[in-house]
Order: sequence, then structure tokens, then C-alpha cells
Amino acid sequence: MAQMYYNQDINEKVLEGKKIAVIGYGSQGHAHALNLKESGFDVRIGIRPGNSADRAKNDGLDVKSVAEAAQEADVIMVLLPDETQKAVYEAEIAPGLVAGNALVFAHGFNIHFEQIVAPADVDVFLIAPKGPGHLVRRTYQAGAGVPGLIAVYQDATGQAKDLALAYSKGIGAARAGVLETTFKEETETDLFGEQAVLCGGAVELVKAGFETLVEAGYQPEIAYFECFHELKLIVDLMYEGGIENMNYSVSDTAEWGEYVSGPRVVTAESKAAMKDVLTDIQNGTFAREWIQENETNRPQYTAKKQAVKDHQIEQVGAKLREMMPFVGQKASAEVVGK
Ligand code: NAD
Ligand code: MG
Ligand code: MG
Ligand code: MG
Ligand code: MG
Ligand code: MG
Repeated sequence: MAQMYYNQDINEKVLEGKKIAVIGYGSQGHAHALNLKESGFDVRIGIRPGNSADRAKNDGLDVKSVAEAAQEADVIMVLLPDETQKAVYEAEIAPGLVAGNALVFAHGFNIHFEQIVAPADVDVFLIAPKGPGHLVRRTYQAGAGVPGLIAVYQDATGQAKDLALAYSKGIGAARAGVLETTFKEETETDLFGEQAVLCGGAVELVKAGFETLVEAGYQPEIAYFECFHELKLIVDLMYEGGIENMNYSVSDTAEWGEYVSGPRVVTAESKAAMKDVLTDIQNGTFAREWIQENETNRPQYTAKKQAVKDHQIEQVGAKLREMMPFVGQKASAEVVGK
């Protein structure tokens, strides 16, 4: 078993008296900043003028430019979108780094794929909560936390791991448990999970199921309920108590269908495709293409986003959800971090 760290294993003193800059005030940024502040740490926000800056000010935080916050801080947590981190780092963060500072991330993409190369005399580590920022905030306020990962890439001060653990305690993650990983493992497994299973896999599975029923002449509304709406109920049961718990709740007929038909849909070929996806992540192909997509103003991203918007499952779903006020939009807004 991997070692888990909890509050009682962690001495937060190492982070006391240090100036922490949270750069960005989006999904993760607002949660880290508010949780750290309420845990008694010295926090300032580095952000460009705009909505996020206004929100941070309304939340009673000390708001500065990115350059100013990064310059005065000892610990700089970069919570900008991954695609913008390199440019902002080079223009506004790097000039303010001095020996002994800590450059910190919530995802390893830019360090692992060498978009950002920190000076050798600063600590580089990550604290990655395994959940969206709004949950990191809400669970903290409820006295609990979202579990997290820590990893040290560069330990210039000899304190990098202790600082990472103290930070994870400050945002509430160590109430739920913190696991140590590496930048390589965090980055590659995070990308793989969201591509193969959570976002990519789940969306394609749902669309293919919906299309199969609709093309066979069934009502789209019925197809939506069977292949989309009910997925949450099934996933909740798995999340709470494992596959066996889900199977206990569904009928034996559903469970038998799972055993005989599931492997006909997600086949050895699907698993081979997953291995290809993983290879592209590991060898940098995915990162290179995504960086290039951003450099060219996102032509494919924009087209694919529109295609999802235009899919019948989204039209039907929007109408049905309007008639189901209990479904609400809150949870989904939190997941995308908007
Ligand atoms: P986000 O898009 O919600 O927020 C980004 C923030 O950066 C916003 O406040 C935005 O105004 C600001 N910003 C954008 N461009 C800027 C610029 N050029 N200069 C200054 N400010 C700028 O981002 P997020 O989802 O919180 O992601 C931040 C980091 O956390 C990423 O590394 C991401 O991989 C990681 N992460 C996110 C989640 C999540 O659930 N959202 C979970 C774990 C890790
Ligand atoms: Mg991710
Ligand atoms: Mg059903
Ligand atoms: Mg059963
Ligand atoms: Mg049924
Ligand atoms: Mg998003």
C-alpha cells in the first residue's frame, strides 16, 4: 500500500511565516487561497484585472498583479490554466524568483513536459487535490477535505516535501489523506484518466449508446434517460461502495447483462486503444499537439466543442433537465471550474 499522510503526521510550522502567493483565482485558486487563509497562513493573490480579480477582492483577499505577488512571496502556487502557465511564468513569475523560493503547481504538465524550467536553486513541488476546486472549498468549510497528491520535482532547500505536506494540510487535503507521487506519475495518470475514462471515455460511451437507441427508432427522451441520466446514479453507487455495491442495488438481470454484454462493448480492442492513448501521453505526442493547438488559436478544439453542442443528446438533455428541477446545474458548474 502507498503511504497516506494525514493531519496528525504533518507539522505545518515549516509554512508558518512564509508569504504564499496564489497565482490565479479560478476553480483551484479560490479554494486554495481561502482555505489557506482560514488555516492561518499568509496569503496574497496574483491575478490580472478582470472578473477573477474582482471576486478575490470581494472575498476579502489581498489582490496584486502576478508580478508583484510572485516577487514578494516565498511560496508561489501557480493556479493558472495549464496552457497559459508558460507565458505568464516567463513574463511575470520568473523575474521575481530568488534562491530558496518554492514554485508550486496543482498539476505537473508544464514541469514534466519541460515547458517551464525553474532555476536550480528553487524548490519545485506539487499539491494536486483529487477533485474540483469548488469541492476543495466546500468540504473544507464542512470540516472535511478532498484527498490530494504531493510530489517533489526539485528539492533545493531540503524542505520541499515538508512544505508540500504543510500546504496540503492548509487546504484541508490532509484531513482526507495525502499520497506521495512523482511529477511524471501525476501528469501521465491524470491525463490518461481524463482522456480514456472520465471525460473522453464516458462521453463517447454515452453518445454511442444514445445514438444506437435513437437510430433503432426509440424516442430520444427515453434514450437519454437510459444512457445518460441514470449514469450518475450508477457511478454514485460505485463511488460509495465499489462495483459489488452497485450490483447489489441493481437487479440481477442488470448485473447479468453487465457480465455478458459489457465486455462485448469495451473489448480487448478498446484496451489496446487505451494503451495507444497512454503511449501518446508518455512520449509527449499528446502534449506537443495540445501546445500546438493552443499556439494556432485552437481550430480543432473550437470545432469539436461546437459539434458536442450540436449533438442531439445535448438538445434533448437540456429540455429534459429543465423539467427536472432537482437535477440543477450547480454540480456540473463546479466540475468544469467555472
Ligand atoms: P481556472 O481556469 O478555473 O482558473 C484560472 C485562473 O487564472 C482564473 O482566475 C483566470 O482569470 C486566471 N488567468 C488566466 N489567464 C491568466 C493570465 N494570463 N494572467 C493572470 N491570470 C490569468 O483554472 P483551474 O481549473 O483552477 O486550474 C488551475 C490549475 O489547477 C491547473 O494546473 C489545473 O490542471 C489544476 N487542477 C485543476 C483542477 C480542477 O478541478 N479545475 C483539479 C486539479 C488540478
Ligand atoms: Mg487534469
Ligand atoms: Mg433503465
Ligand atoms: Mg442486485
Ligand atoms: Mg433498467
Ligand atoms: Mg474546462
